[in-house]
Amino acid sequence: MDYAETIGAHYIDGNWVEDSDHSQNINPSNTADIIGRFARGDAGRVDQAVAAAADAQPGWADASPQIRHDVLEKAGALIMARKDELGRLLAREEGKTLAEAVGETIRAAQIFKFFAGEALRNLGDAVASVRPSVDVMMEREAVGIIGLITPWNFPIAIPAWKIAPALAFGNAVVIKPAELTPACAWELAKILDEAGCPKGIFNLVLGSGSLVGARIAEHPDIDAVSFTGSVPTGRQIGVTCASLGKKVQMEMGGKNPMVVMDDADLDVAIAACVNGAFFSTGQRCTASSRLIVTKGIYDKFVGALTEAADNLVVGDALDRATQIGPVVDEKQLQQNVDYVKLAADEGCDVRGGSIQNGPGFFQKPAVFASATNDMRVSREEIFGPCASVIKADDYDEALHLANDTDFGLSAGICTTSLKYATDFRKKSKAGMVMVNLPTAGVDYHVPFGGRKGSSYGPREQGGYAREFYTIVKTSYISA
Ligand code: NAD
Repeated sequence: MDYAETIGAHYIDGNWVEDSDHSQNINPSNTADIIGRFARGDAGRVDQAVAAAADAQPGWADASPQIRHDVLEKAGALIMARKDELGRLLAREEGKTLAEAVGETIRAAQIFKFFAGEALRNLGDAVASVRPSVDVMMEREAVGIIGLITPWNFPIAIPAWKIAPALAFGNAVVIKPAELTPACAWELAKILDEAGCPKGIFNLVLGSGSLVGARIAEHPDIDAVSFTGSVPTGRQIGVTCASLGKKVQMEMGGKNPMVVMDDADLDVAIAACVNGAFFSTGQRCTASSRLIVTKGIYDKFVGALTEAADNLVVGDALDRATQIGPVVDEKQLQQNVDYVKLAADEGCDVRGGSIQNGPGFFQKPAVFASATNDMRVSREEIFGPCASVIKADDYDEALHLANDTDFGLSAGICTTSLKYATDFRKKSKAGMVMVNLPTAGVDYHVPFGGRKGSSYGPREQGGYAREFYTIVKTSYISA
């Protein structure tokens, strides 16, 4: 796909809508590679999209669930058929490796297919009333128009896991993807158009958070907003939505702990930590950025992790030998470099983390050995290939440190002890718990989400997504 000469337009009411203002989309592996130019809309474009959605949504909600199933099933099939081409675009646009990008694209296809089935499984309930000759029914209806605001780090999977349930249950969508990754969302719009999604039901408005995103949050006719991104943006959107009485769901940051116990299988632990901390260049909300290691294995672990991190091949996302792609942009790279310096200033023994020369934003993975849990590098989300390694005296201290954070998205433990694994699973204050597995990497058919500063509102994905994308109606019927 070569978009260099193309201008990606908005998709509103089934039409491609041009704009005079554009942004350039650059390949972070090679800044000379311009992927394309994409429209930058404003509040007026959002208003146009909402008007189209308002006209179309009642008919979509009333349509047979078979129709919604068929559109989603076809969208999933079209994504799957183009997985290599779309994966390549994703790797070029966002910078994750080709294997990771194709994997994410397959996941997006699976999500559409899963929610195609969910359109048919929108079960209700019936119960006898406490009053004689009265029946009570509980049914789930569409919410209405859903505004979706998405980040750059999973540019096809996150839009998919919001769009698919929204459409499955009869809602109309206005989505604003991240400015750094418009191309994947633009391809999704083309796919939904080809899959036969009726006009006005799916609308894509490209542009900035401050103009397009803010208008989505405050538009009076948008009934619910699902957001994924950083904590400050999420909180701001949450306040706006709450003040307007809108339903809102926010998936935000993480500072996810991985506990490594003395009894862990060291190879399993290193594999889980390397994957969790550094794959996808550490740019995952579920990344293991705090490795909490008990004292008996600490030195051995730090040695093995440093060696493994140093051996990772950092380079062009499209090169099949690459294991760690570039950082997404110059701003994020500078932020990572600042945190590497801060780690040293705070007293960590820093291993790696240097910038690599090249036409892109390349950085070696960084291990912050001798870190403590109260350092800023252990408390703030860096969103880069950097991990603090924190020593704990024993299991109890490790558990305490794992939960001692403002976040609560994912948490893991590497151990061969059933006792520790079971206790950790029960006492972790995270939304997702992993045993002998990386904190990142989740199934598409089960709930995703966290606690504390990481998430707000009902869970995303799997059958639980219905909670956000539907509204319950209770009916009383007397014969
Ligand atoms: P971000 O908050 O900067 O942007 C997210 C989206 O919000 C973008 O589309 C952006 O344009 C939009 N936005 C920005 N300002 C806005 C405003 N005032 N009003 C409305 N919309 C606005 O986040 P990012 O840098 O794109 O993504 C990285 C962050 O996302 C990290 O913190 C990461 O942890 C988080 N993340 C969380 C999850 C999760 O499920 N918990 C998943 C992926 C990423």
